Amino acid sequence: MICGYNIPASTEMHELQNRSLGPTTQKKILVVEDEENLRETLRYKFTAEGYRVTAAADGEKAVALAKASRPDLILLDIMLPGLDGLEVCRILRKDMSVPILMLTARDEVVDKVVGLEVGADDYVTKPFSMRELVARVRALLRRAEGPTPASNSEEPQSLTRGDLKADVVAHKVWLHGRELELKPKEFDLLVFLMSNRGRAVTRELILAQVWGYEVEVDTRTVDVHVRWLRERIEADPARPTRISTIRGVGYRFEG
Ligand code: CA
Repeated sequence: MICGYNIPASTEMHELQNRSLGPTTQKKILVVEDEENLRETLRYKFTAEGYRVTAAADGEKAVALAKASRPDLILLDIMLPGLDGLEVCRILRKDMSVPILMLTARDEVVDKVVGLEVGADDYVTKPFSMRELVARVRALLRRAEGPTPASNSEEPQSLTRGDLKADVVAHKVWLHGRELELKPKEFDLLVFLMSNRGRAVTRELILAQVWGYEVEVDTRTVDVHVRWLRERIEADPARPTRISTIRGVGYRFEG
């Protein structure tokens, strides 16, 4: 979806907030953008994704808000009235390590380079796809936060779950001692599910952990890969006993 500047009615917004399956502890995002339509679109989108969003329309306000509200991440437009995005970034970098993602206009190559030099962590070029932006924001937040609980324990070299065994280093999986031919993403997905045995994981978390930066995928990709995996590891893929579907949430590896 290329960012269409459609702003849904506030009731819709409310519903989205309520049914959002966003992060359990809400992360705060500061949106700095002088173009009102884009600012409100970003506010809407990230609220719907489960974040708490504050917004500023100029550089001075951005600096003040950033210092007062201590956001977990800042989306920072470069072309701003007053202090521009680069100056804002330079000022904030003096005493804040908050991840900063720059929004640059098409072909502002110089701005991108300078942006990274003044301490921005990443940038997207307008017009950007919301999906790409959300993926980058998630990746930056993940990086800032370090290992997630799901991957907190030391990465084991091999995992055994019942009659399934995976060698993480060699990228091999055996079922009943027989090696399975899995595609790389199937392997990654299986290992992720196995290492979260007994725990329901959302499609969003799977997408973020297994696909990460590859942004041309959505949660249906997860479903498709789960289906493929079931065909490999389930006795009856139509009645799975290893990978359960948890309605409204995602999947759980049993055993
Ligand atoms: Ca602007």
